[in-house]
Amino acid sequence: MKPIEDFYPLLSNVHKVVITMHQKPDGDAMGSTLGLFHFLRQYGHEITVISPTNWADFLKWMPDASKVVDYEKNKAEADKLIEEAGWIFCLDFNVLHRTKTMETSLLNAKCTKILIDHHEQPQTEVFDYGVSNTAKSSTCEMVYDFIMDSGNANKINLDIATCLYTGLMTDTGSFRFPSTTASVHRAVAFLKDLGLNHSIIHENIYDCNTESRIRFLGNSLTNRIEIFYPYNTALMVIPKSDLIKFKVKTGETEGLVNYMLSIIGIKFAAIAIDRDEERKWSFRSKGDFDVNIFARKHFNGGGHKNAAGGNSKDSLKETTEKFKAILLDYETALN
Ligand code: 5GP
Ligand code: MN
Repeated sequence: MKPIEDFYPLLSNVHKVVITMHQKPDGDAMGSTLGLFHFLRQYGHEITVISPTNWADFLKWMPDASKVVDYEKNKAEADKLIEEAGWIFCLDFNVLHRTKTMETSLLNAKCTKILIDHHEQPQTEVFDYGVSNTAKSSTCEMVYDFIMDSGNANKINLDIATCLYTGLMTDTGSFRFPSTTASVHRAVAFLKDLGLNHSIIHENIYDCNTESRIRFLGNSLTNRIEIFYPYNTALMVIPKSDLIKFKVKTGETEGLVNYMLSIIGIKFAAIAIDRDEERKWSFRSKGDFDVNIFARKHFNGGGHKNAAGGNSKDSLKETTEKFKAILLDYETALN
């Protein structure tokens, strides 16, 4: 993978472009891809943003989110776009299997592939150009750097600002995680000077709960948490019956895991959700406990030191029993 700086001189070569992200995109994935879309379109490129799967309703207000193609729903059209693309940008993920059923098409595409991402352990051999920096708060911050460092500060418009702020805000937990550097605040200050309305973005993302989602949250907090005090660990287990009862949609389980980290003394929080095709795990930690390593080692996943995910094909009962058994080995690490 060549450094991203080597790509800057190519920016004005007109191309068909695909920009993609990880499955079940979050604010950072959607914000960075749409932010890049609004930047690159100023060169006259023909650009399509493709998401490997559907996405949460709370991201649908984003500028031009309605143009994003859902790969699972439009496989033939999306495969054609991938095949004809001159460039494919891969944002907010760094191992191709995070695009689920799109992986094969991405691997087979012969064009130039560019990575912009902040997750651990990138699959660098599949990318031609790229930047991978785990110290960055968000991929949105990296797209901001990409635009600024390539000498294009003057191309940042309000749509780009809106998209990039979304990921900066969501991936930093509203500017509270340790990844929130002075550069993050400087980027936000730059976007604010352009006229960014940050409070409406916060409202669009966080104040859009349905009644059933709030009741689902209440039920999860009351009935689905188990705490292992000797291990400073909290576990939430969400059975399929809850997802059905509360009509839980894509994205509506996001953030649940963080509530457990706010309990005094808890350093490690895990949630297992009984999805159709798999049991989805999310892991969060405070301090030195590395959940990226934990997720990779035990749950076929990965991510960052303090936030990672994974999955299992076992039943919900089996996978949570496995978690509890594994926990016994981590007493020292969690104290
Ligand atoms: P979440 O728990 O919010 O789904 O994900 C937390 C972090 O871990 C995100 O940065 C996400 O991209 C990453 N992540 C989530 N699931 C997986 C997975 O199965 N594999 C890998 N490599 N990373 C994941
Ligand atoms: Mn991210």
